[in-house]
Amino acid sequence: MRRITLIKGDGIGPEVVKATVKVVEAAGAQIKWEEVDAGESAINEYGTVLPQTVIDSIKKNKIALKGPVGTPIGDGFRSVSVSLRKKLNLYANLRPIKSLPGVKSMYKNIDIVVVRENTEGLYSGIEHEVVPGVVESLKIITEKASTKIAKFAFQYAQKKNRKKISAIHKANIMKLSDGLFLQCARKVAQDYPKIQYNELIVDNTCMQLILNPHQFDVLLLENLYGDIVSDLCAGLIGGLGVAPGANIGDDYAIFEAIHGSAPDIAGKNLANPIALIRSSVLMLEHLGENEVAARITQAVHKVLEKGDTLTSDIGGHGKTTEITQEIIENL
Ligand code: NAD
Repeated sequence: MRRITLIKGDGIGPEVVKATVKVVEAAGAQIKWEEVDAGESAINEYGTVLPQTVIDSIKKNKIALKGPVGTPIGDGFRSVSVSLRKKLNLYANLRPIKSLPGVKSMYKNIDIVVVRENTEGLYSGIEHEVVPGVVESLKIITEKASTKIAKFAFQYAQKKNRKKISAIHKANIMKLSDGLFLQCARKVAQDYPKIQYNELIVDNTCMQLILNPHQFDVLLLENLYGDIVSDLCAGLIGGLGVAPGANIGDDYAIFEAIHGSAPDIAGKNLANPIALIRSSVLMLEHLGENEVAARITQAVHKVLEKGDTLTSDIGGHGKTTEITQEIIENL
């Protein structure tokens, strides 16, 4: 039995986590879940959104499956997801964006992998008021983290037989910070002559992704661009309800969907569980449980192709529990 930390999170988190656990167990994975509370649900009991028990549990088990956690806008506590990524040095955020059968979208055959630096950049959240009416937010870019994420991207591309890496930047304006990110990527690229390497400015990248997404293979981005561009990419394959993700470090990994806590549909049995179910597939592959992972992927594809229980975000009228049940029946 493999022990895995389970964080239900806020909003639609508990609904999609419950669905995913059911699917993973029905598929035959030998997992013992260790449930811990983080996010708004933890405040009452622990007085904090990120209790030490969560960190201790992940450090012990090495792997976690996590639902989304809500973060107040403009003030209030710091994002739990961002804190976890920093505390555990989960420096790589991997977001595979692949078209799915039966899901209507602008394009067919999209197959892009977003590799996002996950620990620094403007996401460092180092902000202060200089004088009333003037604030400063620091963008931290280091040679160490930029080289590490570039190496991760090239090693991933080599292992998965991907052909091209595009480093995405705004070094025309942020010459020092994005300039350093690019310098590190270029240096690492020299060690991988079989993988094509090019560079694109982030605003142009957004337009190109809409006009001609098939030109892209692996995208390498610093933290904030990766965050924004991966939501855009999710839109190319049917939206946030189907797009999976993983936060990977040298010692620990947390698997979670790209989407947030979706307060607009929380508690209504409307959430699409497929994004987190596909994140659990990434987790099972990470654990070497490739057969179970493939079984889940096949079942998801069958259910999407049939289209009877699709949730409303992908054009159907199905409920979270209905599509989950159908996936289980197709395992
Ligand atoms: P969101 O991803 O929660 O929702 C954006 C839109 O997509 C909403 O219309 C929502 O209904 C829809 N959507 C998202 N997931 C869906 C699913 N599985 N099925 C069907 N529809 C889905 O983004 P937001 O509204 O900008 O953020 C809400 C909260 O989530 C904020 O507090 C934000 O900080 C937090 N957030 C957390 C994480 C995380 O924990 N990793 C990630 C992003 C946002």
